Amino acid sequence: MAEQRLSPHSRRREAGHRLSVLVPRPFAGPLDYKFDTPLAPGTVVRVPLGRQEIVGCVWEAEPTHLPVDLRPPRSSRHVAFGSLRAIISVETHVPALPETLRHFIDWVAAYGLSAPGMVLAIALRVPAQGGGMKPMLGWARKAGPLPESLRLTPARNAVLAALEAHGPASTAALSTQSGASAAVIRGLAHAGVLEESVLEGSPMSATPPEPDYAPPTLSAEQAEAAHALIEAVEERAFNVTLLEGVTGSGKTEVYFEAVAAALRQGRQVLVLVPEIALTTQWTERFAKRFGTIPAIWHSDLGQKARRETWRAVADGQQRVVVGARSALFLPFAALGLVVVDEEHESTYKQEEGVLYHGRDMAIVRARLAGAAAILVSATPSMETLVNVQKGRFRHEVLESRHGPACMPEISLIDMCDHGPERGLFLSPLLCESIEDGMKAGEQSMLFLNRRGYAPLTLCRACGHRIQCPHCAAWMVEHRRRRILACHHCDYTQPLMKACPACEAEDSLVPIGPGIERIHEEVQARFPEARLLVMASDTLTSPAAMEEAVRKIAQKEVDLIIGTQIVAKGWHFPDLTLVGVVDADLGLGGGDLRAAERTMQLLHQVAGRAGRGSKPGRVMLQSYVGDHPVMQALIENDFIRFMEQEAAQRRPGFWPPYGRLAAVIVSAPKETHAEALARHLALNGPHGEGMEILGPAPAPLALLRGRYRFRLLLRTRRDIALQPVLRHWLAGVTCKNDARIDVDVDPVSFM
Ligand code: ADP
Ligand code: ZN
Repeated sequence: MAEQRLSPHSRRREAGHRLSVLVPRPFAGPLDYKFDTPLAPGTVVRVPLGRQEIVGCVWEAEPTHLPVDLRPPRSSRHVAFGSLRAIISVETHVPALPETLRHFIDWVAAYGLSAPGMVLAIALRVPAQGGGMKPMLGWARKAGPLPESLRLTPARNAVLAALEAHGPASTAALSTQSGASAAVIRGLAHAGVLEESVLEGSPMSATPPEPDYAPPTLSAEQAEAAHALIEAVEERAFNVTLLEGVTGSGKTEVYFEAVAAALRQGRQVLVLVPEIALTTQWTERFAKRFGTIPAIWHSDLGQKARRETWRAVADGQQRVVVGARSALFLPFAALGLVVVDEEHESTYKQEEGVLYHGRDMAIVRARLAGAAAILVSATPSMETLVNVQKGRFRHEVLESRHGPACMPEISLIDMCDHGPERGLFLSPLLCESIEDGMKAGEQSMLFLNRRGYAPLTLCRACGHRIQCPHCAAWMVEHRRRRILACHHCDYTQPLMKACPACEAEDSLVPIGPGIERIHEEVQARFPEARLLVMASDTLTSPAAMEEAVRKIAQKEVDLIIGTQIVAKGWHFPDLTLVGVVDADLGLGGGDLRAAERTMQLLHQVAGRAGRGSKPGRVMLQSYVGDHPVMQALIENDFIRFMEQEAAQRRPGFWPPYGRLAAVIVSAPKETHAEALARHLALNGPHGEGMEILGPAPAPLALLRGRYRFRLLLRTRRDIALQPVLRHWLAGVTCKNDARIDVDVDPVSFM
């Protein structure tokens, strides 16, 4: 750094202030800068870093607001004041980050052992993008009387009148309003009558949501739950309630009452949904209830919409936001309620970059803001159920579906006895039911959680299986796109005629079904049926999703074939039959939550059937009909299933009865990764109540050209993981392009 050297004498006299600034870089904590005036924490500033200029945020020097166990070690680097570099400027057009958001950023970083600057980067992605959020500049009338020397021409008068009537405006707008030219406006500025001013973002939604716009008539059961939720919000203090209710019980209507309560208090509401495609239907319902649409927040949003929303959330203008987990990092001015819809969904876990669990961090966000939190699910996660049992969360239950709808009847098709002919995947029993439904003018849905045509391509001649060259994974055939694709990296290759190993012609055969193959089978079986495929790679835009939903609602579709996207909270009243093509699909692999997750997913997809006046049926195709998951589903006994799960996890201190962190070691060379993983295990923490499992090659032993080994650190609940992990990893250096990734509370065990 080219700092000018100062004599000790001049250093002592140097004026200015030492300020901590967090920058969006992977450093351990904030850096020190100097500035001639003090700046409040939260102020967004432009600072030099190396040869760059970047946008950062004035920060608390020490995270004393964090619990002791989570506090990262104090930085020992102290730069003498004279050697500090100066803050370049204050980004006056970006609203300051509120304290609750700053503390939240520190929390997310400390809990997941991420660099706080990288967490800040999520929050600053919008305002600081591309060299800063360009302020919309316009003209305002300068305070004070008009200068005496000013000559008031008619044109100048018109400009002043327009400003009086409409408030600050851009040159173009002012010119249109007044009929005066840009030169006249500039002349007024020159004369000291106008000053440049940052214009507020365009009004977001002109009408704020009205809590009493169209309240529903609630059933007795719903009213009771809604009452409890309203009270929770009115406490104006942190609390968490689990709203558990069967699919179709009206959970959304009920938590809307809590939303209304927060609006009446003048506070803001954040609603997290697991799948952004769902916001379309959700937004419509919201508009019916509150008379206006909420702000939507997700990563595909356009830059302009993001900037406007960000600003409107910061100044409290935007009252309700529905969005993906990254909405947690919006600068809410007065957050009163956080809702996590489908709280059990594993998609809430951010698996790349800064790792965090959206549900858990939503609770932290609510606590820091003194807000109420509501977790919503028909099949709550084990973590949440344990928190209810321990009395940490409140619990409201809706036992029955709303209105005339009753719960669908779930039955099993034993594929050992009733399987289809070779090469087909739908049991004759299921096909008959689809046919019956079609005759009755009802809709059916086939669910298979697998994209593409076939998950494996095999050579009949030599037994070769086509694998991704960069990952330990099979290539998935996508017949429509005429490619083989790896679902773990971006690698694709054209379909081939000959086996790459033995060169035999026409010997490659697809093994197993993907959704495209089911589509093909259904087309052959029901040539007249109007089909709709719903998968993340066919419905790539919100508009396509909207169109699909419209088609189903208007009964332009007889049969829907879909991946997990169809399992979510859709409400299709004419859908009466759900067929699960492979109910066993999620059960394989030694994943801690495989059974729980399969149960939740199948329950959710089953819940799409019979939501209107006609009763629904669900058929599960399975080879393991006596598996606890299948038994729980057909007996509709979720509680007993979760008790069995708990009994299996409790003795070994598996989550939620203990704490778990995954340490993933990877390197381009297998020997390097393995050696580092072994070194970590040998030098790992030991002591009562903690244990290291592994290292073992990860199930996905090769990913994007890196070999991977996994270790697990498991501790009793009363032991904080973070200090143990920090101490352990501080003593290790990575060589040979090796990397260590830490995943606290892992969801994926790949
Ligand atoms: P869940 O989220 O529990 O699966 P929903 O909130 O989607 O259930 O409700 C299912 C359907 O019932 C929706 O169409 C909803 O509008 C309707 N509904 C629920 N409660 C009421 C009510 N009190 N008045 C009118 N319609 C209701
Ligand atoms: Zn790959």
